[in-house]
Amino acid sequence: MINEISRILKANQVKLVAVSKTQPPERIMEVYNYGQRIFGENRVQEMLLKQAALPKDIQWHLIGHLQSKKVKQITPFVRMIHSVDSLSLLAEIDKQAQKVGRTIDCLLQFHIAEEASKFGLDLTTAQQLLDSADYRAMQNVRICGVMGMATFTDNENQIRTEFLHLKMIFDQLKADFFVDKPFFKEISMGMSGDWEIAVAAGSTMVRIGSLIFADT
Ligand SMILES: *Cc1c(COP(=O)(O)O)cnc(C)c1O
Repeated sequence: MINEISRILKANQVKLVAVSKTQPPERIMEVYNYGQRIFGENRVQEMLLKQAALPKDIQWHLIGHLQSKKVKQITPFVRMIHSVDSLSLLAEIDKQAQKVGRTIDCLLQFHIAEEASKFGLDLTTAQQLLDSADYRAMQNVRICGVMGMATFTDNENQIRTEFLHLKMIFDQLKADFFVDKPFFKEISMGMSGDWEIAVAAGSTMVRIGSLIFADT
């Protein structure tokens, strides 16, 4: 399965984040041995244990909600944080990244789904964040794009509309704040059940867990 998914993603120049939450290190190593190097975790504690136990060339992406008090545990190694949903969280990442002499790649997470429970910004709040003096003074974070999750539904039209909404948010922010910033290029959307719709809607990075780990 991972070979087939990888082939389609490569043809579309879409990166794969293999979501390894709840998977033991042995299963992660099986996927690693296929050549996969980007892995995503949604909990800090679990990511720390796996980072310590697994090869150091793995690029760890934090994809789940992040509490400010846990930021400093991951800043020494995390490659990308997909789930930035407030100025205060971004400020903490900047502060902790500075302490370890790194610049950390981040995505702004948007609320695009119908469900009320999911985290994320809306366009206006994100524009205020990017306009703020606090953000403009930050030197140790780099905002590389946007992330979102569609509603959990089998209505493909709804999923497509939500992904296209995220693509529109990306295009708007690119035009308003990142015109001459080539690093602002990522749209992280698409999971096991909806990754093909996401790719068609312009995803540059899919986060796939169960589908990959189901049969490796
Ligand atoms: C678990 C998770 C995924 C992957 O979900 P699957 O359905 O297993 O592919 C993607 N993104 C986030 C934020 C997740 O928590």
